[in-house]
Amino acid sequence: MSRLLLVAFDPTDALGGAGFAGALGLPFDVLLLTGQAAPGIGAEKVLATGWTELPPSDAIASAVAGLAGGYSHLASVSAMRSKDALARLAGHLDAPMVTDVIAAEGPSQFKRPIVAGSLIETVAVDGNPIVLTFRPSGFSKPAPGAEVAADNLNLPGTSAVTRVSVSSRGGARPDLTQAKVIISGGRPLKDADTFERVIGGFADAVGGAAGATRAAVDSGIAPNELQVGQTGKIVAPDLYIAAGVSGSTQHMAGIKDSKIIVAINTDPDAPIFEIADLGLVADLYQALPELQEKLKK
Ligand SMILES: Cc1cc2nc3c(=O)[nH]c(=O)nc-3n(C[C@H](O)[C@H](O)[C@H](O)COP(=O)(O)OP(=O)(O)OC[C@H]3O[C@@H](n4cnc5c(N)ncnc54)[C@H](O)[C@@H]3O)c2cc1C
Repeated sequence: MSRLLLVAFDPTDALGGAGFAGALGLPFDVLLLTGQAAPGIGAEKVLATGWTELPPSDAIASAVAGLAGGYSHLASVSAMRSKDALARLAGHLDAPMVTDVIAAEGPSQFKRPIVAGSLIETVAVDGNPIVLTFRPSGFSKPAPGAEVAADNLNLPGTSAVTRVSVSSRGGARPDLTQAKVIISGGRPLKDADTFERVIGGFADAVGGAAGATRAAVDSGIAPNELQVGQTGKIVAPDLYIAAGVSGSTQHMAGIKDSKIIVAINTDPDAPIFEIADLGLVADLYQALPELQEKLKK
């Protein structure tokens, strides 16, 4: 029987999955890895693991593998954490896996970006089950109905790996993949203190998230979890401000679903201006404080 299990890392993931299930043309159930209730999106069953926090990926993979019987498709929203856990799940099930699906042409043929988004590949998959990750920006998002309480499965979340602690320099800012406004900084931010003051300060002033290029991350200017791009996070905010970002294909691969891109760069020939909706040829150290001051007013 053809049926999708939407593996939602948290309840907001479930919302992104409704359009994906519609594109596959399959009935679907939701498995909440965390949370106890999902927005009403037409799932036949809403299940919950009962976990209060996510266990390591190997525990997620073995728990979901135990529920996989009866499902032809198991899918999650594309993110670092889902690619890690679902790749292990595919290994458990000896199943084929396709990542970063942006369109479905029926239940076994998918489109996905490759080569940093410059090519779109169409793949046909022969397997049962099929494991997938998808980018929700490629699929319609329904208005959520009333919340549906989940059936708690009380699944074990045991792993040979024990989390000792988690720390983040991101503070209380919104998550990059959920933020409506993102300001990203690149190599010219010089050091971690400058990045935090200039980019972090601007993000806080507008209630947005801070992001960074890989050059900034590799130079120790910004923490790893802030990297945006092909090998970082794929983002789709309403407004993306790129300050001191040259616009490499790898960075652009992560931002092209943004609604409005604003670029601030001293070099008028920087490639970022080719995809920016608004471009300012200016020094970010002058332009950002001025912009921040104007936004305050
Ligand atoms: C396999 C692979 C994967 C990669 N994945 C990623 C990825 O996921 N994300 C990513 O970002 N990169 C990625 N990269 C790296 C990518 O190729 C670029 O090197 C990187 O994006 C460049 O970062 P940048 O724009 O900060 O630095 P630069 O290219 O050095 O650009 C800095 C820009 O700042 C401008 N500038 C300088 N001073 C100022 C100022 N005062 N005010 C305003 N503008 C100023 C300059 O004109 C320049 O355009 C990857 C590379 C490889 C090979």
